[in-house]
Amino acid sequence: MSKIRQAPCEACGELTPSHEIISLGVGGSTYRQLCGQCFNAEVTQLKGLGSFESFRIEPITLRDCAGEAHDFHFRTRLLGQVVAMDAFELRDGEPSGYQCEVADDPDADLHGLLGRLVDKLRRMLAVKDLTFGEPEPQIAEQTVRGRIDWDESVRGRTPLLVIDGQEVTWEEFGRMLATFEGWQFRLELIDRCDEA
Ligand SMILES: [Zn+2]
Repeated sequence: MSKIRQAPCEACGELTPSHEIISLGVGGSTYRQLCGQCFNAEVTQLKGLGSFESFRIEPITLRDCAGEAHDFHFRTRLLGQVVAMDAFELRDGEPSGYQCEVADDPDADLHGLLGRLVDKLRRMLAVKDLTFGEPEPQIAEQTVRGRIDWDESVRGRTPLLVIDGQEVTWEEFGRMLATFEGWQFRLELIDRCDEA
């Protein structure tokens, strides 16, 4: 289990895991570091929205199709005209691995939204697009789904891919593609709230 850092919410003072703290811009370059509940309460007030009740969601464990357990943490953020709920794994206290998000209207039932998010997670965990064999991972079939992150360890703007919840460097992915020399490909970019 990775070590989880905590910080006090600047509104209610509650000691909150750092991955649950959300920065709220309050004019200029000033940000307040808030827990999920206080963030949503402030956005409700700032945007003059009616009532919005969010609740803290306890982490859950789901197994992937290889039987490996994954611990998922959740956040709910009211972002003006949408409410976004995301799930993520943690590594060194930071969101990483499998990540998933859904969004809806602010008056949507949050339990229903959570149900949609968990269903989406289960679908993600039910397939593996890579075979993590020796000497290197390979593309299992002919489709690869993943997330585009940024590789901080490389100079310049280099993507880091996350496929099957595992980090794959741009170079590693290039070598996987090289085994398909002569084939064609189609690349489709998909919003984070939609299904890849
Ligand atoms: Zn708070």
